[in-house]
Amino acid sequence: MTYVFAFMFLLMAGYLIYFNVVKRDEINANANNTKQDSQSDKIIRGSIVTDDGTVLASTSVNSDGTETRTYPYENVFAHVVGYASNGKAGLEAAANYDLMTSHSSLLNQIKNGENNEKIKGDNVVVTLNPVIQQAAYYALGSYKGAVVVMEPDSGKILAMVSKPDFNPNTISEEWETMVSDDTNSSLLNRAAQGLYPPGSTFKILTTLAYLQQNNDIYSGFSFDCTGSLTQNDVTITCYNGNVHGAEDLKTAFAHSCNTAFANIGLNLDNGAFRKLAEKFLFNNSLPTSLTHSDSVFKLDKDTSYGEVMTTAIGQGDTLVTPLHMALITSTVANGGIMMTPYYVERIETYDGDVVSETRPSAYKELMSTQEAGILTDFMKETVNSGTGTALSYSGYSVAGKTGSAEYETNGVTGTHSWFVGFSNVDDPDIVVAVIAEDGGTGSQTAVPIAKAIFDAYYNAGY
Ligand SMILES: [Zn+2]
Repeated sequence: MTYVFAFMFLLMAGYLIYFNVVKRDEINANANNTKQDSQSDKIIRGSIVTDDGTVLASTSVNSDGTETRTYPYENVFAHVVGYASNGKAGLEAAANYDLMTSHSSLLNQIKNGENNEKIKGDNVVVTLNPVIQQAAYYALGSYKGAVVVMEPDSGKILAMVSKPDFNPNTISEEWETMVSDDTNSSLLNRAAQGLYPPGSTFKILTTLAYLQQNNDIYSGFSFDCTGSLTQNDVTITCYNGNVHGAEDLKTAFAHSCNTAFANIGLNLDNGAFRKLAEKFLFNNSLPTSLTHSDSVFKLDKDTSYGEVMTTAIGQGDTLVTPLHMALITSTVANGGIMMTPYYVERIETYDGDVVSETRPSAYKELMSTQEAGILTDFMKETVNSGTGTALSYSGYSVAGKTGSAEYETNGVTGTHSWFVGFSNVDDPDIVVAVIAEDGGTGSQTAVPIAKAIFDAYYNAGY
């Protein structure tokens, strides 16, 4: 009898291995990951943990056999880790297949005395860093908005914060209130789904368009800023009535001179500008399985002068997600190559055997090393003498760009505060992208938030 049972278990284990390993790619390709929910009567959902073993989500079985999913950090990881009841969101959705699949054989679980009809699903080890995530969460404070922190040379996402947030532990109780709250849209992951005007952070791409249309030679560029530029009946002004005077391209960038950039816009080939924006994934999906919105870039050959000028300074119809802005900044930091962003470091069985690991992969080379070098130099100047000087008195170097993105919704106007940048400029460590809704200028709000995150990173000794 014993012999027969053992044989049966081996067969089942063999079947599970076949199903999981051999069929896996096929099933993943079918994409309908929630199909795996039919496994819930056989498998206890795996945990989401960080590389240092911090548990972000885990399932416990109650005495009556029901299961409870717990999120120890409550609101801090809310959007990126997501939830697994009332539908699924965040990594709970993106990694659902892995969490509801077990590579630990039934035989193994019986051997370990774990036999209770159900087997334990695999654990998903994520790239998120609790120190950085908490720093970003508290630095954003009570602002609505988002923060993304990533490694430019690997594509690893270290932190992703969105506010207003929610407590995934009580999502079922609060569901009705939250889905009907259009004012806060707390369930929306603003980092990946929030579409914002990029404001002056977009001057990174406008500058690149200028460089590419002028054979990377910008020494001949000069502009005399008188504080405003009018073409037909549209007038673009520099922030706060500033008059920047004589500028080269680098000082125009560092001062975030709207007038100079509106003028650059008028002289760009719109078709080529649009091609560049689309190469950088505007009007396209980002290379990630995490739910996100596509950024929007509308300029084309027939666009009016006014729209051309506002687009060049990051206003107009252009919309971007904070995650996308982080990726664009990463491309500069990484010498022109955009890495594929990722959240899952590896998949492990419940008892720690590695099932699979993510290897960093390049999405594409989007600009030359030389162009990335020029943009880095300009972004360094922004921190040294321009709108990002609050970051220049740190124990680390930063290259960045601020943005003050003006918007109008139903007659109400306001200014969102942006910062994108990277630290340890010569060998970049991390990229930080911040947007604080209604935070005013970039230097006012987003820069101090970014500084708190860079500080936390270096204080932790990374
Ligand atoms: Zn100016």
